[in-house]
Amino acid sequence: MTGEPLALYVHWPFCVSKCPYCDFNSHVRAGIDQDAWRDALLADLAHEARLLPGRTLTSIFFGGGTPSLMEPATVAAIIAAAREHWAPAANLEVTLEANPNSVEAARFRDLAAAGVNRLSLGLQSFDDAALRFLGRAHSAREGFAALETAQRNFRRVSFDLIYALPGDTVDGWSTTLAQALSLGTSHLSLYQLTIEPGTRFATMVAKREFAPLEPDSAATLFELTDAMTSAAGMPAYEISNHARRGQESRHNLTYWRYGDYAGIGPGGHGRRLAMRTMRHRKPENFLSAVARNGHGLVEETALSPTEAADEALVMGLRLSEGIDGEAIAGRFGLASIVDWARVDRLVASGHLDRTGSRIALTSRGRLVLDAILGEIAAAPISAAAAVPPPALLPA
Ligand code: SF4
Repeated sequence: MTGEPLALYVHWPFCVSKCPYCDFNSHVRAGIDQDAWRDALLADLAHEARLLPGRTLTSIFFGGGTPSLMEPATVAAIIAAAREHWAPAANLEVTLEANPNSVEAARFRDLAAAGVNRLSLGLQSFDDAALRFLGRAHSAREGFAALETAQRNFRRVSFDLIYALPGDTVDGWSTTLAQALSLGTSHLSLYQLTIEPGTRFATMVAKREFAPLEPDSAATLFELTDAMTSAAGMPAYEISNHARRGQESRHNLTYWRYGDYAGIGPGGHGRRLAMRTMRHRKPENFLSAVARNGHGLVEETALSPTEAADEALVMGLRLSEGIDGEAIAGRFGLASIVDWARVDRLVASGHLDRTGSRIALTSRGRLVLDAILGEIAAAPISAAAAVPPPALLPA
């Protein structure tokens, strides 16, 4: 596997407050011992490096939680160690997720000096009422100011917006999206609000404190998003991610193209040599595990060829480039990963495009991805394969 590409995900599990829609591994703590966390993350990283020797490091992604709350010196130490453990690719992409408040924006210059070359900013909305509804700790004005600071300090900047909130309309979302497309970034992550089990929003919906947007209205907004971003030269390259050509997140492409990635830090998931790896989620448990074992692993699961192929199918169909069904089957030594007769039926109904053994969702198909996966998989998709790793989700 010498020289094979590898991505590195680093999870920082702390936030200043908990957003009501959030089901990520994020925790609020009164005090954080940055030195202890730097040492634990470096030890966890060294453990993965021992198991993945000789790789070419193509990307690092600091996700969370709120990794812009990390000391820039901690970020620099992790980047430097990763560059020593593995040979860095010439165009190594180093992304960090940030929230747009003034405290964090003040660190952008130091984070750029630490080696971060791409910033992903969690703006989420341009409207103060929507930001309050989403429980965000920043205002729209702070968001715009942070974006400006980010664009001064990083060559590549992306931001996230959440749409399909209760009461969202075609007029309102098209105005917001037009504004988003005018702000000069080369990448946008546009997520529909989903009510995840166990979140405060789930409780509020159960108590009828608000009702999610009707699925048909959400689908209309999704189609509008597709049309407007394509017309602006930032088409979707993944269900919720849009970029100018060449500005796609290389890190997330590794997930979706089913490459290996080391995942360190609390709750970090990884994919290492046909194994699924998972770290302790609770920060305190993670620190004790590192002190005890020299790493934060809680679980390593060997994937069967069928499970791995299922995952590759689930992840790859999210991409507009789609998947090569025969190549994936060959990679995992399987006769087939899809039922080609059913694929052809979905081509005829306008949900899939097929060229040889390459298949991709059409815009109509993108609205019903889960149903299509259930329909075309050669064997029923396992529940685990159907769940994307938390690292892919916005913060
Ligand atoms: S959505 Fe992001 S900022 Fe909010 S609690 Fe979750 S991880 Fe933290």
